Amino acid sequence: MSLIVQKFGGTSVRDAERVMNVAKIVTDTYAKGNDVVVVVSAQGDFTDVLVAKQEEINPNASRREKDMLLAAGEQISIALLAMAIEKLGYHAVSLLGWQAGFETSSAHTSARIKRVDPSRIKAALDKRNIVIVAGFQGLSRFGDITTLGRGGSDTSAVAIAAAMHADLCQIYTDVEGVFTADPRKVPNATKLKEISYDEMLELATLGAQVLNNRSVEMAKKYNIELEVLSSLTRAPGTIVKEKTRMEKMLISGVAKDTEVARISVMGVPNNPGLAFKMFSKLSKKGINIDIILQSIGHDGKKDISFTVAKERGQEAVDALKDYMLDLGAKEILYDDNVAKISIVGAGMESHAGVATKMFEALYDAQINIQMISTSEIKVSVLIDAKYADKAVAAIHEKFFD
Ligand code: ADP
Ligand code: ASP
Ligand code: MG
Repeated sequence: MSLIVQKFGGTSVRDAERVMNVAKIVTDTYAKGNDVVVVVSAQGDFTDVLVAKQEEINPNASRREKDMLLAAGEQISIALLAMAIEKLGYHAVSLLGWQAGFETSSAHTSARIKRVDPSRIKAALDKRNIVIVAGFQGLSRFGDITTLGRGGSDTSAVAIAAAMHADLCQIYTDVEGVFTADPRKVPNATKLKEISYDEMLELATLGAQVLNNRSVEMAKKYNIELEVLSSLTRAPGTIVKEKTRMEKMLISGVAKDTEVARISVMGVPNNPGLAFKMFSKLSKKGINIDIILQSIGHDGKKDISFTVAKERGQEAVDALKDYMLDLGAKEILYDDNVAKISIVGAGMESHAGVATKMFEALYDAQINIQMISTSEIKVSVLIDAKYADKAVAAIHEKFFD
C-alpha cells in the first residue's frame, strides 16, 4: 500500500461536474489499496472573486482580514469534495489547514509553512478515510488564519507529502503537464516528459504558473518527486525530479512574467556607495530587486534601473523618491507596462550562443530589449508588455520549431 498525495487546482473543481470527476479520480486511487490525502484549491476563480469583494469594501484592508476572507474559498471546495466522495460510497473527512496541522509564520498573505503536524491526518487515514485538506492556508503562532500567497495550494500538497513521507505527489491541473511554453498561449508548445527541480524552479519563478515556485523549492529540499498532470484527460504528465534521464535539453521552456515594473533613477552622482544606499532603503522594506542595469558614468552622473514586483512598485518609488532626490538624483521614472520574458535550460551552461539566438528571435520580431539578465540556466529580457505574447511565440519558434 502506498500513500499518495493528490492536489487539484481551481479549474479541476470548478463546478459540480468537475468535483464529481475529482471524486472519481480520488476514489479510483483509493480503491487500488492506497492511502489518499487530497489537497484542493478554491473553485474556479473564486479566490479572485473574494479579492474583488475585499477591494470593493476596503482596498487597504489589513492583511490579517484579507487572509480571513481568502481562506474561505478552500473551505467550500473541501466540503463539496468530501460530499462527492461520500456519494460514491466512500468515507471522507475534510480538514481546514489548521486542523491538518499547518503551522505557518505570521506573514499574512504570504505566510511560510513552518511545520506540518500530520497526526490528525494520520488518525483519519487509519480509520480508512480519504482525507481532504484545504490548500493555501494555515495557522500562525498567534492562532490566526494565514494564507501562503496566490497559487499556494501546490506548496500545501508538497508539504504534506514531505511531512508524511508520501510515495507520490500528484499535481492535477487543467493542462497535461509542464510544457515548453504556456500551451494556452503557444499552441505548438510540447509537453515535457520530465524536468529537473532546478529548471522547474526557474520556470515557475519566471512566470510559468503551472507550479508555484515555493512548492518546487520544497520538493527539491525534501526530494519529493512530483507529477504534473491533467484532471480531465488522465494522460501521462510531467515528472519533476532531481536528475532527469534525458540528455540536457538546450532549453526546456520559455516563460513570461507581466507582474513586474521598472524603476529608473536618473542622473545620480557617480560616487561609491550610491547603489548600497539606494537598495538598502528597499531591502529594509522587504522589497526584492530583480534585474539591475547601471549605465557607465558620464559628467559625474549615472543612471540606475531595476525591476521589482509590480505589487510593490509604487511603494518602492515612494520609499526612494525624496531620499534619492536629496542624494542628488535628477528624477525617478516608473513603468509597469513591461514584461519579463525568459528562457530556461540546464543545457545552455555548456552551449555558447543561446542568448544570441533569443536576441535574434526578438530582432526578427522587431521587439526592443530594455534590460537583460543571465545566469547559468536562464536568460531574461525586459520588454514592452504589449509585445509579451508575440515575444514568447517568436522565441519558442526559434528554439523548438
Ligand atoms: P491550478 O488552478 O490547477 O493550480 P494554474 O492556473 O495555477 O492551475 O496553472 C495551470 C496553468 O498554467 C495552465 O492552464 C497554463 O495556462 C499555465 N502555464 C503557464 N506556463 C505553463 C507551462 N510552461 N506549462 C504548462 N502550463 C503553463
Ligand atoms: N485558491 C488560491 C489561489 O487562487 C490558492 C491556489 O489556487 O493554489 O491563489
Ligand atoms: Mg495553481
